[in-house]
Amino acid sequence: MDFQLDEELLAMQEVAREFAENEIAPNIEQDEKEHRFRPEIVKKMADLGFFGCVIPEEYGGNGAGHLASMVVTEEIARVSASWGLPFNVQTMGPALTILRWGTEEQKHKYIKPLVDADLFGCFAITEPDTGSDVASMKTYAVKTDEGYVFNGSKTWISSAHVADVAVVFAYTDREAQPRHRGMSAFVVDLKNNPGITTAPIETKLGLFCAPTGSIAFEDAVVPHDALLGKEGEGFKICMSMLDCTRLSSAVRAVGVARGALEESVKYAQEREQFGKPIASFQMIQEQLAQMKVEEDAARLLVWRAAVKRDRGERNSLEVSIAKYYAAEAAVHAANTAVKIFGSYGFSSEYPVERYLRDSKSFQIVEGTSNIQKVIISSYLLGKKK
Ligand SMILES: Cc1cc2nc3c(=O)[nH]c(=O)nc-3n(C[C@H](O)[C@H](O)[C@H](O)COP(=O)(O)OP(=O)(O)OC[C@H]3O[C@@H](n4cnc5c(N)ncnc54)[C@H](O)[C@@H]3O)c2cc1C
Repeated sequence: MDFQLDEELLAMQEVAREFAENEIAPNIEQDEKEHRFRPEIVKKMADLGFFGCVIPEEYGGNGAGHLASMVVTEEIARVSASWGLPFNVQTMGPALTILRWGTEEQKHKYIKPLVDADLFGCFAITEPDTGSDVASMKTYAVKTDEGYVFNGSKTWISSAHVADVAVVFAYTDREAQPRHRGMSAFVVDLKNNPGITTAPIETKLGLFCAPTGSIAFEDAVVPHDALLGKEGEGFKICMSMLDCTRLSSAVRAVGVARGALEESVKYAQEREQFGKPIASFQMIQEQLAQMKVEEDAARLLVWRAAVKRDRGERNSLEVSIAKYYAAEAAVHAANTAVKIFGSYGFSSEYPVERYLRDSKSFQIVEGTSNIQKVIISSYLLGKKK
């Protein structure tokens, strides 16, 4: 693997960096305080082609690839982890999953509008009693002449109440053995369905500009052609989607680790104690060096997984390694940054406390750090190949 980005990727990186600095950074602290989601930022990112990297031109993308998507996402997340989330809920989750498993009608109906942010997307796996154990979900879709009738509830869904469309996972067969073979995937229009209600979750630690919510299905009738893939393929589809959304979360974590380090380097040179900049103390230097090593290692793991995917190879193991390491690196970097900033690290006057709050999400979403280790060890022990 060549570690040097080519001219095209460097140009995309530059565009994303400028966008983050000019369009996101000036308002981010105020927006975070007000928990403000700005649809126009999602639209502008779409107009710059950010969400189209992993989608072929035929379906409205630019086909630049997964590595390109990683490079662009990192630049956005470096300034704000919240604003890295649309990459997941527009394309890495819904659009890419529809591209892989959808019918031509579904592809034409949803992919380009998601890439262009004319539709807002989300994906719904998690339920009040179902997190890591995906197969334990209770949402059920009964096939009738009118369509599939959904009952159940999803929670902790990014963008739930701002989304137009969701990739939803539900059981269509409760008797299947093993049980996960009874799960199916659907592309569900969330608006104008009297059986579907959404609500925001306001009790969050961070990611205040990225809405999170719940979705309730009460005898919600969804047309037959909403089925994604075949009945019973839901678990397989879910795992294939997570390979993509996980990688996108991993690179957002890299962005946060980098942001935390850059702020720390700056602050350590400005802040003086004992008559000299705190950067002159070896203990501070060691902390900065450790952050740099972990940031670079996390990025290289992300790039390795992305390049493998761009070569058309399965990358589940590499994705889990990258996601685990990057999440831990982000939390470590943000936590160290808060230490380096002293009492100012404890203040919302500087962004490092936001980095710490936001970074904690990476240890949870798309499979917790423990779950990534379960996956990694299952490859080592020959349970997965
Ligand atoms: C900000 C945010 C955004 C999210 N967005 C989405 C979204 O868009 N769509 C969606 O579907 N979900 C989303 N989620 C939900 C997220 O995917 C789940 O929270 C996650 O899968 C963990 O599930 P849980 O919270 O129920 O934890 P649990 O599964 O209850 O786990 C609790 C603890 O037990 C540990 N644990 C569980 N099983 C094992 C095991 N086998 N071995 C070792 N340890 C284990 C976990 O590591 C964790 O520490 C989001 C969550 C957050 C916080």
